[in-house]
Amino acid sequence: MIRVRRPATVPAKLLTDGALENQTNLTAYASCPHDYDNGIKKIKIEGRIYNHSSVKPVLKQAQHDKCCYCEKNQRDAFGAVEHFRPKSGYKPTIKKKQKLQWPGYYWLGYEWTNFYFSCSLCNNRKSSYFPLVDEKKRAKKHTDAIAKEKPWLLEPGGSKNPRSHISFTNQLIQGTTPYGWKTIEICGLDRETLDDDRKERMALIEANIIIFQNQYSSPAETQAARRFLLDCQKPKAPFSAMAQDFLRPLLT
Ligand SMILES: [Zn+2]
Repeated sequence: MIRVRRPATVPAKLLTDGALENQTNLTAYASCPHDYDNGIKKIKIEGRIYNHSSVKPVLKQAQHDKCCYCEKNQRDAFGAVEHFRPKSGYKPTIKKKQKLQWPGYYWLGYEWTNFYFSCSLCNNRKSSYFPLVDEKKRAKKHTDAIAKEKPWLLEPGGSKNPRSHISFTNQLIQGTTPYGWKTIEICGLDRETLDDDRKERMALIEANIIIFQNQYSSPAETQAARRFLLDCQKPKAPFSAMAQDFLRPLLT
């Protein structure tokens, strides 16, 4: 996981249709908050708006076609617009049988600053889980302040740099702080399939190290290997955080 930045310009679709829908939702909630808090009534957040062609591809491109949590390349995958704060219902702990709490962060359903692009596996795993350090500070309606919340889940574009909380030993991911460990757990960043994907990337990195360090490599081969080893640490490369942790001691 690395820090990502979404473009500052809010897509027009969110400012028009998104703003209208949001206003409708705020009015609906205000008319009978009790029914929404109990899940009797539910607020629908329209996928046609947040998945719009002027929204989702922009996020995907800004993140170099990678998932905001696992850094896996998603160029050929559908992926998902990830609502960092869950748009409809949330789970306050990461216990498996945790019940959904209503109504969720309905007022952020069309909010650009709540959006990232994620792979479908991280998106499904994270689902509605959104535990806070202090549950009493949770924003439960649109008039509450989210700034008071301290989420355990690291926000890809937030104030905490994920690199200061999660590190790698070869392909193995580990937390270096409680925030890091919780984020790994919430998104399943230690899942076996992801471990295999990272292992595959590591094999390519190691093959290039051998070429780079081999005294019998031609100057062109050495140069190409060095270029690969530098590029694979850049934000556009898949699993760049893992590559950085592995390569920084060897090459700068
Ligand atoms: Zn992912």
